Amino acid sequence: MSVVSDADVVGRVHSIETFGTVDGPGTRLVVFCQGCPMRCLYCHNPDTWEFAHGEKNHGQGGASGPGEDMSVGQVLETFERNRPFYRRGGITVTGGEPMAQPDFVAALFRAAHAAPAGRIHTCLDTSGATFSATGASRFSPLLDECDLVLLDIKTADAAEHERLCGLPASHALELGEELARRGTPVLVRHVVVPGITDGEEEAAAVGRIIGDWDNVVGLDFLPYHTLGRAKYERLGIEYPLEGVKAMEPARARELRHTALVARARRRAERGR
Ligand code: SF4
Repeated sequence: MSVVSDADVVGRVHSIETFGTVDGPGTRLVVFCQGCPMRCLYCHNPDTWEFAHGEKNHGQGGASGPGEDMSVGQVLETFERNRPFYRRGGITVTGGEPMAQPDFVAALFRAAHAAPAGRIHTCLDTSGATFSATGASRFSPLLDECDLVLLDIKTADAAEHERLCGLPASHALELGEELARRGTPVLVRHVVVPGITDGEEEAAAVGRIIGDWDNVVGLDFLPYHTLGRAKYERLGIEYPLEGVKAMEPARARELRHTALVARARRRAERGR
């Protein structure tokens, strides 16, 4: 039986950003995984959606189509070339959906933690789309290695969730529960889209959800912007939010405040 070392595990990668500053603390190497099962109406990375052909065995490599195969060793080499810049940062894996390739990301994070030149901080940016409570053990090796998780709550409205993203809300909520059980630090992110996710009740409902999770260390309400539109044109895909204006940042801040008040109430009810 051959034993594959973590450095040799291959994933399907859309691209790498060497100096990311918005996906986790400090300056980070950001790995964009190829493939996402969601179809969020406001997605600004539609070029990461398609899974490579033959990618059934995620993390095994050998697929063809969009993205490129990269080994854990290759990703870490890129990090090590610029290590001094990442002193207060680390590695973030995003997408696409990184949890569609749990073996690859687990191997990458394990290797990052064991790096000979010093432990590297790991951050997973996910919508939780492939997670379910019943299949949680599949993701344990990955979740064991996450120093921080950026978890998207797309909408707190269960009925709206499927229309907005193409999948039910249960995946993200069950992942949130699992992370709370583990005590993994989580920063929750919520995109505020005018006319869709910008209601007071929606914000309060997000706040109540995170009021049940004691591991939440931050909450971002991200104003929807239209910068992703050009990519849809290039890809020949109709832009689903045609005519929807960018969200006022000040309004997004107000709604975040509403969420935090609801969170505090929920925590008080729970005696926290
Ligand atoms: S989960 Fe992320 S990558 Fe996937 S469609 Fe939604 S915004 Fe895009």
